[in-house]
Amino acid sequence: MDYGFDCPYVIEGEVEQVIEEFGKHTTEEHGIEYSTEALTQFILRQQS
Ligand SMILES: [Zn+2]
Repeated sequence: MDYGFDCPYVIEGEVEQVIEEFGKHTTEEHGIEYSTEALTQFILRQQS
């Protein structure tokens, strides 16, 4: 996915699940805690 930084992380599934898992990933792996709203924008942009 392209979220403004280099990250090979890929996740598929229900949007709600993806948001939760991706939020954990960015927090734990990148030290960036995005809001649910920001995460939703990333996911929706990626899927469209
Ligand atoms: Zn990552």
